[in-house]
Amino acid sequence: MTKNIRLLVLLTGILCCSLLSAQNSGEYAANYARGPRFRALVHYEPGAEEAHVQFDTQAIGFFRKLTFGEGWIMDVTTSLADYPYEKLKDYNIIISLNAAPAGKEQREAFEKYMENGGGWMGFHASAYNDSNTRWSWYNKFLGCGAFYCNNWPPQPALVECDTREHDVTRSLPQSFVAPASEFYQWQPGPRENPDVQVLVSISSKMYPFGLKDVVKYGDFPIVWTNKKYRMIYLNMGHGDEAFIDATQNLLFINAFRWIVSRDPDGDPFKK
Ligand code: ZN
Repeated sequence: MTKNIRLLVLLTGILCCSLLSAQNSGEYAANYARGPRFRALVHYEPGAEEAHVQFDTQAIGFFRKLTFGEGWIMDVTTSLADYPYEKLKDYNIIISLNAAPAGKEQREAFEKYMENGGGWMGFHASAYNDSNTRWSWYNKFLGCGAFYCNNWPPQPALVECDTREHDVTRSLPQSFVAPASEFYQWQPGPRENPDVQVLVSISSKMYPFGLKDVVKYGDFPIVWTNKKYRMIYLNMGHGDEAFIDATQNLLFINAFRWIVSRDPDGDPFKK
């Protein structure tokens, strides 16, 4: 072996060893999944009001794009009647797009799923409830009371992060203009519940808020988690503009990822 070839073999050996040790010591920059990391179930109602179905359709497209590369599996249903608890429990997260479990069996299955560590991300009318809803557990779960009032028509709103020391808001600006939506207030509001952490609210600079239906004052949380459950509720979800803004899109992805990562069986992103 000539001197040059011996040097080349030595250098190649050093390079291989250093690459291997970098991977073994966990310093490698990415971990690549060999298969889908988790399953999500998206639920919506095609018969809902037009502006809600517009959002639902775009949301399905938005989340579908996030499955590219088969990082996770997304199933879509228009009826939770097909999902008893035994099926629901295989999903890491349920995404409710302007829809809520209807009827005794669906409600009981959902309740059992959430009480046993299930994950939930709900948008807009998924949390709508009034005196006709008659499902006290749902208010306990949401951490708020009944629907109280809303702005009309849908419009953009200046929103503020209530905390940026949370994984969902850490990478967001302190305030941003959320795309046009109808926003709901609740009575009592979620901030009055000690189990709730509010993440984003409509800025008080928006008051008076609305042109036909005008909200004049009040605490106006729009994104929160009930810390007793693996859940986040987001009040956005009306019309066809919800996904035009990168900041809000990032909020949606952060919320989704945070819920999924807290699976009681372990963080799927670390597998
Ligand atoms: Zn609406």
